[in-house]
Amino acid sequence: MADRFYINSALSPGLVSVSGPEAHHLAVVCRLRPGDAVTLFNGDGHEYPGRVASVAKKSVTIDIQGIASPERELPFRLTFAVPLPKGDRADVLVEKLTELGVTDLVPLSTARSVVHPRDAKLERLQRHVIEASKQCGRNVLMQIHPVTAWADFCRTATGVRVLAHVGETVAISEIRKLGEDVTAAVGPEGGFTEEEVFAARAAGWQAVGLGRTVLRVETAALALAVLCGR
Ligand code: SAM
Repeated sequence: MADRFYINSALSPGLVSVSGPEAHHLAVVCRLRPGDAVTLFNGDGHEYPGRVASVAKKSVTIDIQGIASPERELPFRLTFAVPLPKGDRADVLVEKLTELGVTDLVPLSTARSVVHPRDAKLERLQRHVIEASKQCGRNVLMQIHPVTAWADFCRTATGVRVLAHVGETVAISEIRKLGEDVTAAVGPEGGFTEEEVFAARAAGWQAVGLGRTVLRVETAALALAVLCGR
């Protein structure tokens, strides 16, 4: 796969000028030169193969030579609702959920969640989505939604709704047919409260287990994402 670069604008065959961090990445980090092959994407589901036409101090011109539409998305919506873990662990969570094909991430606020991310943090995490998409080949960006209270989310979520719950023995494969849209929720480090689990069950959610050990938030989310994507 040629080196991939994200451009936040409409793309089509012909010359396009790239500036800002992506131009720096192209010219300085990757040291690409006129004639080198690159692929551009903008999150519209397509990718745009081309070649570097010229490199200037603060901008790079790419000659887009075609449009390709490889199928790299899951054939269903996969939404994850997770209280963001602390620090770098949130970055890893976002990177890996992107790689695994999750379509939407809803940062949850629950009774026991301790991280309350601000808009700037969510914007920074969206940058991790782009970096992960450059690397893994996705041409649709995972959407990071505003922080949502569990009480609201558990009433309004759609699709097959599963809640990872410590001690539960039901496996996700027992309750969901491949191809159905899934909304999956993982609790905070302190776990969902009994009231939160009760509210979810009352709203039609099903609890699923992920084995005999207690997993950290990001491990549980990644394990569940793998199982949902198969
Ligand atoms: N003491 C907490 C409890 O019992 O819920 C531990 C919470 S765990 C660190 C964080 C979240 O990961 C849980 O709320 C649950 O959603 C998920 N989780 C962790 N291990 C799990 C397992 N073995 N099966 C299902 N979900 C699990």
